[in-house]
Amino acid sequence: MRYLPEIFANNRRWAEAVRRERPGYLPGLNVSQNPRFLWIGCSDSRVPANEICGLQPGEMFKHRNVANLVRENDPNCQAVIQYAVHTLKVRHIVVCGHYHCGGVRAAMDDTPQDGPLAGWLAPVRDLRQHEGSSLAGLDSEEQRWNRLCELNVIEQVRSLAALPLVRQTWDEGRPLSLHGWMYEFHTGLLHDLDTSISGPQATAPS
Ligand SMILES: [Zn+2]
Repeated sequence: MRYLPEIFANNRRWAEAVRRERPGYLPGLNVSQNPRFLWIGCSDSRVPANEICGLQPGEMFKHRNVANLVRENDPNCQAVIQYAVHTLKVRHIVVCGHYHCGGVRAAMDDTPQDGPLAGWLAPVRDLRQHEGSSLAGLDSEEQRWNRLCELNVIEQVRSLAALPLVRQTWDEGRPLSLHGWMYEFHTGLLHDLDTSISGPQATAPS
């Protein structure tokens, strides 16, 4: 329990520093938020989304889950996308994965798994099977793992582009771009997977 009082002490120091350095900023957040994009990322504690993008509170709307999955049958993720696109009117949705993702790694494990995590990761397991031949051409298990992390992000961007919520936005002529990024722990850098989609014309089967 010693850890929790430290959190509150940290919080007080942070709030005092923000109030001192940017008077009016925190009270402004009481009134509204104006995030520029929706971030769909992994729950991993090593990916501090705002910090690595240099953004302040109010500038990024976020949804996080294990292995950064976009699933049409996940009401949590769908509600976040609906609010971001229809109410906040964000113009960009970023799916940001990361290398050495434990969720992706678990989906590569051939030993039988149970519980909610096994069900949640089933699409990643399917993707691994589907991409089996291309992954087999890589030299090491670590390379296969990291490539599957990338392929998983690309797959989620495709899933986003097929969502009724997203198609409706494009049908109405509103700008909305989808992007796939990767984050690398050891350099702290983001990488663009060049898989961006800005309209229905870009989503024809490849
Ligand atoms: Zn992860």
